[in-house]
Amino acid sequence: MRFTPQDEEFRQRVRDWLDASLTGEFAGLRGAGGPGREHERPAERLAWHRHLAAAGWTCLGWPSEHGGRDATLVQQVIFHEEYARADAPARVSIVGEELLGPTLIAFGTPGQKARFLPPIRNVRELWCQGYSEPGAGSDLASVSTRAVCDGAEWVITGQKIWTSGAHEADWCFVLARTEPGSSRGRGLSYLLVPMRQPGITVRPIRQLTGTSEFNEVFFDGARTAAENVVGEPGDGWRIAKATLAIERGAAMLGQQVGFRRELGNLLRLARHTGAGQDPLLRDKLARAWIGLEVIREYALDTLDGDDDTEASVLKILWSRWHRELGELAMDVLGAPSALAGGDPYDEWQRLFLFSRADTIYGGSDEIQRNIIASRALGLPREARP
Ligand SMILES: Cc1cc2nc3c(=O)[nH]c(=O)nc-3n(C[C@H](O)[C@H](O)[C@H](O)COP(=O)(O)OP(=O)(O)OC[C@H]3O[C@@H](n4cnc5c(N)ncnc54)[C@H](O)[C@@H]3O)c2cc1C
Repeated sequence: MRFTPQDEEFRQRVRDWLDASLTGEFAGLRGAGGPGREHERPAERLAWHRHLAAAGWTCLGWPSEHGGRDATLVQQVIFHEEYARADAPARVSIVGEELLGPTLIAFGTPGQKARFLPPIRNVRELWCQGYSEPGAGSDLASVSTRAVCDGAEWVITGQKIWTSGAHEADWCFVLARTEPGSSRGRGLSYLLVPMRQPGITVRPIRQLTGTSEFNEVFFDGARTAAENVVGEPGDGWRIAKATLAIERGAAMLGQQVGFRRELGNLLRLARHTGAGQDPLLRDKLARAWIGLEVIREYALDTLDGDDDTEASVLKILWSRWHRELGELAMDVLGAPSALAGGDPYDEWQRLFLFSRADTIYGGSDEIQRNIIASRALGLPREARP
């Protein structure tokens, strides 16, 4: 993937807009709300995201008929790179914009598109993803949350877990078993469920970082209209897998610019504290820099393909790299890294702790390696215990 003069012109436009906009009331928002810091200034970040929407900087890759910009993949990459470079605050509506929106564009009815896409595009409704359950994480097909249709409405009973942003979401897309007695991927449906109703209880889970960005969600006779099913009833597994495939995208390239900034800050710290004179740390810091170059090249090379194996390789590359960066930061800090330094942790401690999650969400490392083993290496599927 190479950038043309038109792409560079687009880059300049994004850069100029961000420079001009991250001023005044938004000036102090730079860097707010990254991974493990989702609790930071949610109201101001919501206002900022709506400001982006008003200027047409949300849902860039969506078709213009649905309010997007018809942006090419390269333009999307550029936007996310510039966004990260400007240290703009983490967006609050990523699940709707990057997961549900594209799923509805591909599989939704005209009525669903008309009802749900505009409020995602304008950041008026926030979404969360109701897939994982206590007994269904990596093995997602074991979902046991049930839904029955009484004619006018689906009635949902069960429990989801690790639901990011459920405490702030207006809606949830829920994978539920709608055919009694069915098993695995058969008999599941993909339901759109309003979060603010008596049948739903959201309980925050306190994480390693001391914050609570994800939750348990209990459905106790929760309701949604009969038409709020994406695809046919019973066809939810196919739709759910399509959403998972969309989860990887242009935003990954932007994320790497954030990684680059973190590594740059760590290098500055190593120079400042003298840790950079330690031969072992010098070696690790150089390796981290090389690792990031490899990830960027691999991501640029493979982004436009829709190869599952490449997506798995990339997920392993960046999640491991980021986790190791957190460990390296602790090494650079030395013994003081073990003392709680902020509220309750400082920047590096939080990175170290939160990056443990990188190798779990979006498919754990072990699951990615299983995909590579069977699809790229042609090894037999592993035996089911
Ligand atoms: C920060 C964060 C945010 C999340 N947000 C959401 C969200 O918004 N919505 C949502 O639905 N879910 C969310 N999740 C859940 C995430 O998708 C699951 O944690 C993930 O799928 C793993 O499932 P699990 O936690 O049940 O672990 P398990 O599946 O129980 O796995 C436990 C361990 O066993 C390993 N393992 C499992 N099966 C195999 C196998 N076949 N071969 C080898 N090893 C195996 C795993 O790799 C892991 O190390 C989030 C998770 C995190 C960490």
